[in-house]
Amino acid sequence: MATMQFKNINKVYINGVQAVFDFNMEVKDGEFIVLVGPSGCGKSTTLRMVAGLEEISSGDLIIDDVRINDKAPKDRDIAMVFQNYALYSHMTVYHNMAFSLILRKENSDFIHERVLWAAEVLGLTPYLNRRPAHLSGGQRQRVALGRAIVRDPKIFLLDEPLSNLDAKLRGSMRKELKALHHRLGTTMIYVTHDQIEALTLADRIVIMKDGYVQQIGTPVEVYNNPANLFVANFIGTPPMNFFDAMITKDGKIVVAGNEIDIQGHDVFNALKEKKYLGKEVIMGIRPEYIRVEKKKSGYKGFPSVCDIYELLGSDALIHFDIANIAVTAKINSREVIDPGEEITYDFDIEHIYFFDKDTEMRIYAEHK
Ligand code: ADP
Repeated sequence: MATMQFKNINKVYINGVQAVFDFNMEVKDGEFIVLVGPSGCGKSTTLRMVAGLEEISSGDLIIDDVRINDKAPKDRDIAMVFQNYALYSHMTVYHNMAFSLILRKENSDFIHERVLWAAEVLGLTPYLNRRPAHLSGGQRQRVALGRAIVRDPKIFLLDEPLSNLDAKLRGSMRKELKALHHRLGTTMIYVTHDQIEALTLADRIVIMKDGYVQQIGTPVEVYNNPANLFVANFIGTPPMNFFDAMITKDGKIVVAGNEIDIQGHDVFNALKEKKYLGKEVIMGIRPEYIRVEKKKSGYKGFPSVCDIYELLGSDALIHFDIANIAVTAKINSREVIDPGEEITYDFDIEHIYFFDKDTEMRIYAEHK
């Protein structure tokens, strides 16, 4: 169990590349933190600095009130699980899990007890005498986890541990990991490029881009209240739709040739207060907040034509154009719309987001 503090952490590699800029965060005891962002954003570098595999160029990394920048990896009481499992192919599952405890010269009864316990927790008891080559991908990943949990470390670090698994197995391993975290209560830092993994696993998500933290928050916070355009676009599938828009002085959004009256809504008050009336902004709306129907007589919404109807199961995606901008809406799949059919669409004003055109920061109004 451990708390962590990242204080102004920077990483500059020898070749001069700065991979991490001024990383600041406090991690609570037992928290499940997910670092997420596109390839090259600095998430693995951050994790490797915690593990002690990369030097910290400047700043302080504090675990349980002790600065650990200069501690060797083996003295940090941290266990790391990698994407490629890194199992010993010539050893059985049992020995793979026992190995680090044997190196630590633990008592053999203790080792036996720990390995049997980990095997039980991870559903590996029937496979203890097998070698890794005779296991499925999911089972190998569980052995890699087993090797980490037998040591009862203060902190687990996981670097894309599920990315070698197929989609279905990833889904079930996600649930197992979540249950494992719940059971162990150990602080975990998990790196992934997959925003769905971040949303489903994390207590809090750290979204990174080009070495900078963009936002830290719970999954619900970052989904409902993205701090900027990058986060709004990165979190959520299919992604948010974006438009160039103009806010008129009398409280209308002019977007793709349409006018939407927003007077009396919270967003209008926020735009007014922050002096965006009469200015150009970027407007964003998630697919589930664009209402789409087949065109009916006496319709109220704006007209368009369905390009593609994609059935997902209980939901369906409709792709259509608004003034030559490709838009995606998500609707209940009870409404079946054929490509080429005329539709009407409308925006749920309470769920429209606005971003400053220059800074790309969110023009903030609380969304429920
Ligand atoms: P991510 O894990 O988000 O994909 P990394 O932390 O691996 O990103 O890399 C962040 C940046 O640091 C990238 O620009 C990458 O090219 C650079 N980088 C990573 N490792 C090294 C290294 N050993 N030497 C120099 N640059 C590196």
